[in-house]
Amino acid sequence: AALDAIQARDTEVQAFLQVTPELALEAAARVDAARAAGEPLPPLAGVPLAVKDNMNLAGTRTTCASRMLEHYESPYTATCVARMLDAGCVPVGKANMDEFAFGSSTDSSAFHPTNNPWDTARVPGGSSGGSAAAVAAGEVALALGSDTGGSIRQPASFSGVVGMKPTYGAVSRYGVVAFGSSLDQVGPFGRTVEDVALAMDALVAGGRDPYDSTSQDVPPRFADAVDTDIAGMRVGIIPAFMDADGLTPEVRRAVEGAARALEAAGAELVEVELPHLDAAIAAYYVIGPAEAFSNLARFDGIRYGYREPDCATLAAQSSLSRAHGFGAEAKRRQMLGAYLLSSGVYDKYYYAAQKARTLITEDYARAFDRADVLLMPAAPRTAFKHGEISDPTQMYLSDMYTISLNIAGNGGITVPVGLGEESGLPVGAQLVAPAFADERLIAFGAALE
Ligand code: GLN
Repeated sequence: AALDAIQARDTEVQAFLQVTPELALEAAARVDAARAAGEPLPPLAGVPLAVKDNMNLAGTRTTCASRMLEHYESPYTATCVARMLDAGCVPVGKANMDEFAFGSSTDSSAFHPTNNPWDTARVPGGSSGGSAAAVAAGEVALALGSDTGGSIRQPASFSGVVGMKPTYGAVSRYGVVAFGSSLDQVGPFGRTVEDVALAMDALVAGGRDPYDSTSQDVPPRFADAVDTDIAGMRVGIIPAFMDADGLTPEVRRAVEGAARALEAAGAELVEVELPHLDAAIAAYYVIGPAEAFSNLARFDGIRYGYREPDCATLAAQSSLSRAHGFGAEAKRRQMLGAYLLSSGVYDKYYYAAQKARTLITEDYARAFDRADVLLMPAAPRTAFKHGEISDPTQMYLSDMYTISLNIAGNGGITVPVGLGEESGLPVGAQLVAPAFADERLIAFGAALE
């Protein structure tokens, strides 16, 4: 059914870079055989899954939507993907993304854009836009994305689906192509909070992954959290976020509506402050490019990636391979990272960003003295049109509500809260929980549905 849905809809949506009918039918046949033999079925048996194309899945290419990795065959399967397959999921394909996950629109894919299923003239958000669009279009029930600064939560908001970034370390990064290693986190997209909870249980089943030293043991109690009674619990609202420049009135009203819905369910609204959050975007665009520069150094045409033919010298081979393998945004990030880490400059920006990181992390920790979860917009506006935002710094503002969580490490979830009154497009509200209390995202998220 998922392959049929892709056949019917993906010419228009273009969520996929590769569709994998053989892998899908093989996995589905295994489920059928187990059922016929009367064996117990795993929890997600037969559930169609899309995998962001920065995650290795043996038998597929992992391109990161880049010419650099156009022909790169996954040598093994990433832990996050393997766990979804162990839970019974059927992999139907690799989802489009911004090149190397740099972006908020999926328009920087080297191969093709992805269209928002609600209005194909618009972007699905990014960088996990293919994953979000595949779920929104009904092509798959679940998808995996990665979130370094908002790349799950912002496209979930633009595409009208649920998307969750758990706490840094909750899900293994082994086998996921690194962007910012201290910021990257994998998480699921689904149509409902319960679907996302079931995917989270699958992702954390088996405990910490010895192949990712930052991964932690997280108990699989997400699905159980769906029915939690939130009466008497406290929801923090950040007044400065609700009055921010750039927040559109329709998104503000939709998020205020979500706050009232939580109140109606018995929660108490409290005001909290995050005084250093103004520094989040600036800190992110120092830390993120610095880490990206060091992670992407391996794509030199020798160890990995596109190799320019007929070069006379080694230096020419590596610089021409990089010049022709990477797109504009990937180059911009790496040039920025190289500059920021150069001597003399390093102390001024990188250290300052690390100090801001500590202050932002402490702000969140303090906020949770007063609140059990925080509620805020996921993105300042609804989905924009392809090509509408051409200035990179304007594009960076798409993540004004999501970036600080990657800096602090906490988990967040986007839950659709209706259509914008002016645009008629989906609006998502974002819930934020204390570190490693991600089951609260499920509890409060379910209360918003
Ligand atoms: N849009 C942000 C960026 O361009 C976040 C991307 C992400 O989370 N991968 O860096």
